[in-house]
Amino acid sequence: MSDQPMARPVPKPTAWSQPYWDAAREERLVIQHCNQCATRIMNPKQYCPRCLSDDLGWSESDGRGTVYSFSIQKRSPASPFVGKGPYVVAIVRLDSGVQMLSNIVGERAFDVHCGDAVKVAFEPIPGTDITLPVFELVG
Ligand SMILES: [Zn+2]
Repeated sequence: MSDQPMARPVPKPTAWSQPYWDAAREERLVIQHCNQCATRIMNPKQYCPRCLSDDLGWSESDGRGTVYSFSIQKRSPASPFVGKGPYVVAIVRLDSGVQMLSNIVGERAFDVHCGDAVKVAFEPIPGTDITLPVFELVG
């Protein structure tokens, strides 16, 4: 076994998710929607999960939402995240009508409770062109 730490997994944009990652790099959060049935879609997909249309578009989100659920990860099994904890993984329900899996970051991250208000922030992954949307507690 190598003593080298495992590389952090990095999202690999697809043709249909590229606009999401381009926006994140510009510190904007965009939500995919279906132009036929208005379903909002997260994570980005090639077809609408409701009506199967490929007529999809994007709209800006203000990045505000609430914590639906969370977990504080203190230890990791053998993985690229060994030694990175503790960190907070959360399901955030955006006011824009979708929910997403992300991290709660910032000085108050470990004070998180279900129902807390959050706002998007952006965390570039060093050495890549990927920026991750993450969330901070507000209020
Ligand atoms: Zn649809």
